[in-house]
Formats: sequence, C-alpha cells, structure tokens
Amino acid sequence: MSKKRIFPAVLILAFLHSLLFSQGSVRFEDYFIDATMRVDYFQTGDAEELSFSIDQVYHRDVWAGNPENLIDDMNSGMYYIKVYSLADNRLIYSRGFATIFGEYRTTDPAGKGIKKTFQQTLLLPYPKDAVLLVIEGRDKNHHHILCPIFSTKIEPEDVNIIQYKPDPRDNVFTILENGHPHDNVDLVFIAEGYTAEKKDKFLEDVNRMTGVLFNSEPFKTHKQRFNVRCVLRPSADSGVDQPTKGIFKNSAVSAAFNALDLPRYLLIDDNKSLRDIAFSVPYDAVIVIADCERYGGGGIYNDYTMTTVDNERSEDVFMHEFGHAFGNLADEYFTSTVSYNEFYPPGIEPHEPNITALLDPESIKWAHLLTPGIEIPTPWGQDEMENLRIERNAKIADLKKQIEVLKKEQADSEEIKILEAKMKETWEFYSNQIKKIGKKYLDLYKGKIGVFEGAGYSPKGLYRSEVHVGMFYQGEYGKVSEEAVLKQIMHLSR
Ligand SMILES: [Zn+2]
Repeated sequence: MSKKRIFPAVLILAFLHSLLFSQGSVRFEDYFIDATMRVDYFQTGDAEELSFSIDQVYHRDVWAGNPENLIDDMNSGMYYIKVYSLADNRLIYSRGFATIFGEYRTTDPAGKGIKKTFQQTLLLPYPKDAVLLVIEGRDKNHHHILCPIFSTKIEPEDVNIIQYKPDPRDNVFTILENGHPHDNVDLVFIAEGYTAEKKDKFLEDVNRMTGVLFNSEPFKTHKQRFNVRCVLRPSADSGVDQPTKGIFKNSAVSAAFNALDLPRYLLIDDNKSLRDIAFSVPYDAVIVIADCERYGGGGIYNDYTMTTVDNERSEDVFMHEFGHAFGNLADEYFTSTVSYNEFYPPGIEPHEPNITALLDPESIKWAHLLTPGIEIPTPWGQDEMENLRIERNAKIADLKKQIEVLKKEQADSEEIKILEAKMKETWEFYSNQIKKIGKKYLDLYKGKIGVFEGAGYSPKGLYRSEVHVGMFYQGEYGKVSEEAVLKQIMHLSR
C-alpha cells in the first residue's frame, strides 16, 4: 500500500469511529427522497496503488431498492459504499459491490505497475441533505477487513447534478410486472449488438433468459418478488468486438471479448452508455445480453451481468454470471485458465458466501447447512483423480514422442498406426478411470453439503460446499449459493 493512501484513511477512520454509536434502523423518509442518485466515478491503479475520482452525478425519479433495507450487513463484496448523513453523523446507506479493477489488480500487467482506469457507477437513494460518500475496500495487509479508501462530500442541491432525460433511441419493454419497484427486485436487460431489425429477436432472447432464471431456485419460488424490464438502444452493427479475431463493431455499450487478456471474458468498455440506457427504468440489477454466438460472458457483483445469447452454453453462462453479479458467488472451478495471480491470498477467508479457506473448521460459514455427520474436509477422490491425470498425461507425452521419432525416421506407417491406436487406448483407459471415480463420489454426495477441497481457481486451500454444483460446473447453484442469493432477493424486496 502506498503512503498516499494511509494518510486520508487515518482521518476517515477517526471520523467513522465517532459514528459507531449510531443505532436503530434508518427511516427512508428522514434522509431520502424517492429518487436515485447515480454517481459515475473513475478507479485508477495497479497492484499496489489505487485512486478514485468522481466523474458526474445524476438524478432520476424513483428508488428501485427496498426503502426498509438501507443497510447491507451481508459483509459480501470486495468493496462497500457507505453513505453518512453529515447533519447527524449517521450511516444511512450501505451496499457491497465489486469492480473490474478489483480483478485487474491481480493480473500480471498490474503487478508490473501498469496503471489502468475504469469508469464505473454506484447507485444510492437520493439524499435530502449533504452526505459523505465513503468507499471501503478490503485491505490485503489487514486480513481483508474493510477500510475506507475514498471519501467525498456530495450536496444533493448541486446545480451540476444532471437530471435524467429519456433518450429517444431507447425502446423500453416490460417483461414481468409484480408491483412497485420499492417492493420488488427490478431487473433490466440491455441489448448489446442488436440492430433495429433485431427487435423481435431481442424480446425473444430476454424472454428465454427470464424463463431460464425463473426455472431455477431460488428465483422459481420467489418469482412474485421480481419485475423484469428491458431496453433496446439499437446498435449500428450486429455483434460485439472480438479483438483476437480482428473484429470490431459499433455497438450500444461497446462490449468486447478478451477482457483482462482472457479470450472468453466478455466485458463492457462503455459504462457511461450502459448506465444511460439502464436509467430508462428503475433497476436493482443490470443484465446485458449480446447478439452473438461465441461462448463468453462476465459478471461483477452489483455491477452487471454480461452474456452472449446464441452459444449452446449461453443459458448456463447467463446463470453462472448472474450468480457472480447478483449473489456475489465465487467461482468454484479450479481447472480453467484465468488471468489472476493469487486472487484469494492464502490465510484469508474469502468474503464470498460459497467458498471458504477452512481456517476455522469449527465455524464454517455454511455450518447450518452441512449434512449431519459428513467428514470435514470431505474426501471426493481429488488426489486419486489428479494422480491418474498426471500418469495419463506422462504416458501420452511419451507415446507422442515415440511417434514423432518414428515419423522423422520415416518408419513404416503400420508401426506408427499401432502407436497411435495405443495412445487413443491409453487416453480412454485413464479418462474412464477418472470418470468412474468422479461418478462414484458424485453418487455418494449428491445433494449433500460438505467441505470439498478445490475452488476459487485453486485445487488446494479453498473449499466449496457441494461436489458438483453451478459455480463449479453448471446447472443448479446448490443450497449454499441459493441461500446467499435468497438473502439478496430479500434485501431488495418486501
Ligand atoms: Zn465465473
């Protein structure tokens, strides 16, 4: 951490200390009007340094959140926004969130000191009087506890605050209406890379994804707590940027593959346009769907969900990314390539609800859901399967070498064919063994909650709750993640 950061942080800490005595729940009408304050800001930094600056502030009628739940006590998210009333030194609003910068800082370029700027947005209920807006981040030197890293005073009467005006290019549709935004979770789907002629396809795609969502728990049971709307601002071109293929498009929110240099990672480059379009409706969560058939997507907690729609796996990608963006669910897989280094520093309990470092086996965060009597950690054949993989790969590498030598020596083609057949046979033999072990444990632990090693991009030291669930593979989220998502639904609706 740089010295520049410590000095203001100490001041803010002293200020926050004086606020510790504020008690009781916050009455919405005492501090807010029924409107949304949108704060656009820049976050700039590398692995060590970080700075914030405010870009622009906006006003729009209607607050989408539940006015009875102004404080987010879930302790979920890499960052927190906290809003204090300056008149009576009271915390009047808080919400956890994540940012793409939080991921960038763990990449190789950030480690080399290359600074990058990201434009982002926070929403809060519109305050009646002056407030102190504080952003807290998890300090890696202090076991990831939340520490203030930025603060600024905001005057709601400031003449420079931009009043939202609808944009004639935006077409708004209602998909599901259950009542007032205060009482419901308000989802908005935004079209990316849909031309004007694709309006019907956009509506079909939104309906399809909405169907997928409400076919899965806990959304299925709580469908009556949701409103779903969608906005189409037609894109000039169809599809999105695919930099590694030299494809660039003029599209509504400038989504691009290869985010953080990971080919399948699809994120939005034009947050400003995204937020302008989303502001057409009151919303709690934004989902951007791209008219594209390549596999990819992304999801950032309380920022947005992004997915393509025409890949055979798009529906699974949507649910997975929505899990990140809506529930702050962590990735449970550990075999795919990622761009992060030490995304979860050793010895620190991750803030996400669905993975644990198991630092204290006596108090696992999903202890109340554990299957009675289950072994902790729960053996699931991980080492057995890994050893077979290593053995298989060594044998395959050896056979490949032998084949190469024979080819160089222009050996008899029959001889090569025999080795090639042996290679195929070896691959199948080991793969079947691995599958068998996997299936044995899958059958053994189906629907059971334990503590399974391997999660959060790491085969060791991080644990997930079920042998095979949504954030690990695909399909249902699993009980632990479902509970976390349900907490969010209850936070945003009543
Ligand atoms: Zn993921």
